[in-house]
Amino acid sequence: MNAAPKPKCDGLVWSGFSNVFCGRNAGYEHEGRHFCKTHHPPSMKERSDKSFQLYKEKWEKIAAARTASETAADEMAQNAARYLWLRTRVPHKAYREMGLINAYGCEEIDVAIDAAMIESGDTTSGKR
Ligand SMILES: [Zn+2]
Repeated sequence: MNAAPKPKCDGLVWSGFSNVFCGRNAGYEHEGRHFCKTHHPPSMKERSDKSFQLYKEKWEKIAAARTASETAADEMAQNAARYLWLRTRVPHKAYREMGLINAYGCEEIDVAIDAAMIESGDTTSGKR
C-alpha cells in the first residue's frame, strides 16, 4: 500500500475573486504535475476539441439550412418582382379588351402577360 497522501489537483479555478487550486484528488499526471480529470490538460484539450467539433458541425448545418432557405426566399422575391414588373408591361388596352378595370386577382392576367411578352419580343417567358 502507498501510504503517501493522495496528490491533489494542480488545476486552477476562479473562485470569484482570484484563481485558487482545485484541490480535488488527482488521478492524472501531466508533465510532472497532478490533475483531476477536469483539469488534466490533455483531457481539457480533448473536451475543447470535441466541443469545437460539435459546434462546427452544428454551425455548418445552420449555415447550410440558412443558405437553402435564403436561396428559396431570394427566388421567391425575384419571381414576385419579375411578375409585378411584367404586369406593368401589359398595356391597359389588354385589360380593357378583357373587360377588366384592373388585373388584380384575375387569372386572365397571365394570358395578357404572355401576349405582352410575345409582343415585346421577350423569349424568356411563356414557359409556365
Ligand atoms: Zn482539478
